[in-house]
Amino acid sequence: MTRYLITGGCGFIGSNFIRHLLATEPDAEVVNLDALTYAGNPENLRDIEAHPRYRFVHGDIRDAETVRAVMRDAQVVVNFAAETHVDRSLLDAGDFVMTDVYGTFVLLNEAAKLPAGQLRRFLHISTDEVYGEAPPDRSSSETDRLHPRSPYSASKAGAEMMCLAFYETYGVPVIITRASNTFGPYQHPEKALPLFITNALEDQPLPLYGDGQQIRDWLYVEDHCRALCLVLERGAPGETYNIAAGNERTNLEVATKALELLGKPRSLIRFVSDRMGHDRRYSLETTKLRALGWSPCVRWEDAMEATVRWYRERRAWWERIKRDPRFQEYYRRQYAARLEQSSGVPPP
Ligand code: NAD
Repeated sequence: MTRYLITGGCGFIGSNFIRHLLATEPDAEVVNLDALTYAGNPENLRDIEAHPRYRFVHGDIRDAETVRAVMRDAQVVVNFAAETHVDRSLLDAGDFVMTDVYGTFVLLNEAAKLPAGQLRRFLHISTDEVYGEAPPDRSSSETDRLHPRSPYSASKAGAEMMCLAFYETYGVPVIITRASNTFGPYQHPEKALPLFITNALEDQPLPLYGDGQQIRDWLYVEDHCRALCLVLERGAPGETYNIAAGNERTNLEVATKALELLGKPRSLIRFVSDRMGHDRRYSLETTKLRALGWSPCVRWEDAMEATVRWYRERRAWWERIKRDPRFQEYYRRQYAARLEQSSGVPPP
């Protein structure tokens, strides 16, 4: 048996990862520690909650006592838990620093106290956003200087530094992955693609920041999960691995594709005033990951189709979230004024 402690497993990527792990590794035993913030949703794992190799613990990674108890037998830690929404970090960054940086520190600090040799890997899930905007003529590689430009990405960069410090100082077998924009089932509807899809399904406008020409490298969550398993198996402690599929698309292309798949008109797109400090392009060099034997399995077009189908068929899942007063308050704050002043054509 391999005993995994997974944090943030009730969120988007964490829930997909746990499902993937239980399905593909017959000797994996999973404890999922999640604080169930607004982004954590037990429904994401409803189908496996009674699985004999799965256990859920409701708790916070910032709480050392809780972490100590759930980490006692762990052989592999995978840290997904974080505040993850850039727009929210622009409204108030306190929770980002507390969870993403301090929470990661608590996990590392407890990991460092485990008996020598018990912990095989401490996989920390980071993001391409720590690089800031990619240079115009190339992709970001693992050795590039970090240049985070939002409170979210700065918190993720801080967590990475803490990870490397605990690797160097105490020998915690840390591996860091920096993945690009991930999409697929169970992603919270505050994030760009699920927001586009669910707004379109409700015949509501799709708010697109600025001129919609910001480029992201779109990675299907299944491919992301397979990359994480491979890095756990073949990656080296102290190393960082970029994860991306090479699907660079503008936000406008992504919104347009979602509308096309849903048979909805392009006139639903509304260009709204841009996000502060909005990074223009993220792009990742992935030679290091590919050398471990990874390549994406799902074409972007097929992944988009599967994702749109999932949201179309799981209306109750996202409607409940969108009706939640916490979501409505956020949406109003973020988009109401912007949509009032929006236009159907990109600003000059
Ligand atoms: P998410 O917001 O969907 O889920 C985050 C989960 O963490 C939730 O279940 C939440 O309840 C839990 N959580 C938050 N604070 C916690 C705390 N203090 N203690 C315990 N649990 C807590 O996030 P996601 O999109 O699945 O992202 C997961 C990880 O992957 C994050 O670390 C994120 O930075 C990283 N990442 C995400 C993307 C992406 O495109 N979504 C890309 C690259 C990296």
